[in-house]
Amino acid sequence: YCAILKHISEAKFLLCLYWIGLELDTGNGHVLVVSQVSANAVPPTSSDTSSQTVDLWQPVSPSSIGLTTVVDIHVPRSSCQPFLLSLQEAGIEYEILISDLQRQIEKQTDITPSRQRRSNLLYSYEVYHSLDEIQNWMYQMNKTHSRLIYLFSIGKSFEGRPLFVLQLGKRSRPLKRAVWIDCGIHAREWIGPAFCQWFVKEAVQTYHSDPMMRRLLNQLYFYIMPVFNVDGYHYSWTTDRFWRKTRSNHTNLSCHGVDANRNWNVKWCSEGASLHPCADTYCGPLPESEPEVKAVADFLRKHKKRIKAYISFHAYSQMLLYPYSYKYAVIPNFKCVESAAYNAVKALYSAYGIKYKHGPASSTLYISSGSSIDWAYKHGIPYAFAFELRDTGYYGFLLPESLIKPTCTETILAVKNITNRILQKCP
Ligand SMILES: [Zn+2]
Repeated sequence: YCAILKHISEAKFLLCLYWIGLELDTGNGHVLVVSQVSANAVPPTSSDTSSQTVDLWQPVSPSSIGLTTVVDIHVPRSSCQPFLLSLQEAGIEYEILISDLQRQIEKQTDITPSRQRRSNLLYSYEVYHSLDEIQNWMYQMNKTHSRLIYLFSIGKSFEGRPLFVLQLGKRSRPLKRAVWIDCGIHAREWIGPAFCQWFVKEAVQTYHSDPMMRRLLNQLYFYIMPVFNVDGYHYSWTTDRFWRKTRSNHTNLSCHGVDANRNWNVKWCSEGASLHPCADTYCGPLPESEPEVKAVADFLRKHKKRIKAYISFHAYSQMLLYPYSYKYAVIPNFKCVESAAYNAVKALYSAYGIKYKHGPASSTLYISSGSSIDWAYKHGIPYAFAFELRDTGYYGFLLPESLIKPTCTETILAVKNITNRILQKCP
């Protein structure tokens, strides 16, 4: 029963996993078992890793699994029993976190009129919104807050959708310093777009009452892209809740999509990225092959002199990460960046006592090449951060709507803390 995932990198330890194959595509009726496996690793044997592997939630790539890695795995109902048996036989500890996946998914997209999803006046920031709803919301915000908000598009997605960005900040001389914020590079991480919307709402609502917010919006522009990977996000609403990649198709294979956080031109497609189009961490046929990545990279290149911070929102694992992702090395302005991260995490903790780890992405999360923060940093943006928002795996990507408000409330504190700092200079 037990197939071994071959470790692509030089690491010595493999996790014993049941070969799920293409059953993952069969749609409904899965029981989700997210197993937190304290990897009592199994000696390597040769095996075939050619096409589909299991649906790894955390870490996303089997090459990141080491001896002590805790792993979250999504297993379809049909493979569940043999999978658990194989874990037991291998002496690997596990815990079932979500046993009724389908119900959890339905809970998240349950549309009832009383929740005021579609009303523009009473737009609810405490539910997840579809792409259409988010785009309508952007039009409305642009219309009703024209002194602080300006909506524009930086290009088109693979499937032809506009890539909208909101410029947030008091309209004044054009060359204010700026902060770039994107959410939803990875489609299934729904809390990201929810946070971007929350941030915009909070900014316009507290502009007059909060001196710090007023200072930030007066002295800076925030460029906010609520849904980076629009095609993937839409697909995660209509077809596959756990879709991660874009929806492009560069090969004859039936596998779609590129990991938009492995497609940037910095150490492109080396460690922590896959050359296989079916992999969840596929780096694409070449750097910036994805129109979404190219559009953002073009914008950042054009404005890099003004952009002092790049902040990208992901989920999950409660971390605040900075470069490098692709290597274990200390960045030149480590002192400034580390102190910014330390204080941001402290500010976040002050709201509800939620603990975030912080540090270089390589050593805090795992090695990944072609990531957006490494690219932004290499292009001269001194503060480049990636947030991994709540939680640590209890709900995983299915963070309930009831936790949107506390998650966003605490995260805003961290973002304000970071951006307030860029008004000072980092040597
Ligand atoms: Zn992500």
